[in-house]
Amino acid sequence: MLNIVLFGPPGAGKGTQSEKIIAKYNLTHLSTGDLFRKHLGEGTELGKLARKYMDEGKLVPDEVVIDMVDDKIANTPETNGFIFDGFPRTVAQAEALDRLMQRKATKIAGMIALDVAEEVLKERIRERGKTSGRVDDQDENKIETRIKVYLAETLPVASYYEKQGKFAKINGVGSIDGIFEEISNVIDSY
Ligand code: AMP
Repeated sequence: MLNIVLFGPPGAGKGTQSEKIIAKYNLTHLSTGDLFRKHLGEGTELGKLARKYMDEGKLVPDEVVIDMVDDKIANTPETNGFIFDGFPRTVAQAEALDRLMQRKATKIAGMIALDVAEEVLKERIRERGKTSGRVDDQDENKIETRIKVYLAETLPVASYYEKQGKFAKINGVGSIDGIFEEISNVIDSY
């Protein structure tokens, strides 16, 4: 299996690049944000719980996220591997992911981080908010909170993989295809 963590702040282009990666490498896309939005749309208990955090731009508690990922992995028996998008977002989640991978007798090949300056991120999120319908994309305070939460709680996850020699950073500003080529080069080196 080939398991990759695609990393970066909100608006870095993780969703866009994930689409291209899954098509080229035939992987399963596991976006915790997408999974939560699906639950929200279906009005499940999990969706209702997650909504309180999502609408504020805060992180959903680790155990809730980890259980949902566990479930998704368990229900995907036949796959070449996973591309994790928006997960792990805390060191506790990264540790849990290692355990989940071990249980499947596999591991994380590496983390690929998309580097984008804060002002560019904000502009991209505002643009996306015009069509995404996402409450968290349309309010300056919520955009600000998400970036703050990223810096305080999520950025340490990069060091977690760096310490294991599993970290690659790519410039996330440029053409979609150009960025994808850089990502492909990293993946092909695994
Ligand atoms: P995203 O689509 O990845 O930007 O996620 C949207 C929102 O879902 C985030 O702002 C969080 O409230 C929640 N969320 C998604 N993934 C996670 C995660 N791994 N840990 C905690 N909260 C998450």
